[in-house]
Amino acid sequence: HWDRICNRLKAEVGEVEYRTWLQQITLGGIEEDELTLYLPTRFLRDWVRSQYNSKLNQLWNTELPQIRRVELALTPTSDTPANTSPVQEEIPSQASKTNDFNPIKKTQKQAPPTVIEEPEIKEADEGKIPLQTQLDPRFTFDNFIVGKPNEFAYACSRRVAERPSSPGFNPLFLYGGVGLGKTHLMHAIGFELAKAGNISVSYMSAEKFMYRFIASIRSQSTIEFKEELRSVDVLMIDDLQFLIGKDNTQEEFFHTFNALIDAGRQIIVSADKSPSDLSGLEDRLRTRLGCGMVADIHATTYELRISILEAKAASAKVVISPKVMEFLAHKITTNVRELEGALNRLIAHANLFGRPITLEATQEVLHDILKSHERRVTIEEIQRKVSEHCNIRQTDMTSARRARAVARPRQIAMYLAKQLTSRSLPEIGRKFGNRDHTTVMHAISRVSELMEKDSSFAEDVELLRKMLEN
Ligand code: ADP
Ligand code: MG
Repeated sequence: HWDRICNRLKAEVGEVEYRTWLQQITLGGIEEDELTLYLPTRFLRDWVRSQYNSKLNQLWNTELPQIRRVELALTPTSDTPANTSPVQEEIPSQASKTNDFNPIKKTQKQAPPTVIEEPEIKEADEGKIPLQTQLDPRFTFDNFIVGKPNEFAYACSRRVAERPSSPGFNPLFLYGGVGLGKTHLMHAIGFELAKAGNISVSYMSAEKFMYRFIASIRSQSTIEFKEELRSVDVLMIDDLQFLIGKDNTQEEFFHTFNALIDAGRQIIVSADKSPSDLSGLEDRLRTRLGCGMVADIHATTYELRISILEAKAASAKVVISPKVMEFLAHKITTNVRELEGALNRLIAHANLFGRPITLEATQEVLHDILKSHERRVTIEEIQRKVSEHCNIRQTDMTSARRARAVARPRQIAMYLAKQLTSRSLPEIGRKFGNRDHTTVMHAISRVSELMEKDSSFAEDVELLRKMLEN
């Protein structure tokens, strides 16, 4: 099995990628439906987990259907000698032997003892890959939809693309949550600068920076690596938070950073938090990162999401009804990438089946995505919100008191629990001081009745629902 899987992995990801990241995997054991695979370093484990997790799961599951989950772990280090490597947190000096419990015996591949002794990596990949990483041609300023949450970051990015290395804008530090456009803006800056010509731009993720740095140590070409880095006009490092806890790489970045700034070059960095909130980053680096322009990309607003959807639909030349767009913008709120993904799936579906995109079709086609975006309200949250709103104590939600002043809010909370959670009537009853499911049923019909009769009561309940849904 193991050999077959290795070969399939190799075929799917390519020889170089396989050697670089996956060759060092060793088998752990199987426990029930879970298979453990070992990697010799934390970095490799995290990397493989972030990049190949689903592929590994899928391959193993096809090969051995009893395996439902693949767990990636660090190779047990019982016999790893003390480490004196300069990058010790990143490269343990020895991959130790694997677990004794190994049902797949014999075919097991022995991991090479260290990452350092992987000559292919250093020669084939590291010596020759230019610092420039391909910029994604879709990520331009023109394709970036500007709204309140990102207008400042956008303006700063434009400014840096027009006049790099201006005082006050160097470094440019872009930060914000996942999928809000940091990478997009960095690539857009890169394009704009490359268009102007004569400027060397280097973009890489912090992971890549670290990987190249380590590889250069391995192949004893650190000096070349440093020189190459220090020769660029614009250096962009994406997702800097990745360097937290990677002290040696951070140190290297700090020196590169200083050398470039002193030489009047532009640095652009992105991260998921502001410099001051990136705890775990060395203080002096943090301070310097905050010295230029720090621009925050806020969570998208409903309006921005609608604009993004409209723009993407227009560029794909499909007509999508406002109803569907509104629905999507309401449901998928956290991440533009997912919003895009949902839209793309809808478009593909419509093209494939030649059917217009109705609201029903949307709900069906995006069933899984929508489900993962459903905000799961808990009964406790409902009880808290309703108590606050009705000015009663939260303990009254579960108490035996029957006074109208507490009984009515309790009924409203039960009604909302039924509407907003997937709990059954008996489950809801239990959460309300072990009440019977018939009590819950009664509460629900009573609240519905009242809502029909009394419009201000109905408004109140709707308001509570809205608050809970957001
Ligand atoms: P981040 O790097 O912040 O995680 P990305 O830049 O990778 O996010 O953006 C995720 C996806 O969403 C990309 O495909 C990007 O083009 C798109 N995107 C994000 N913000 C916008 C925006 N304001 N306008 C258009 N597309 C956007
Ligand atoms: Mg990104």
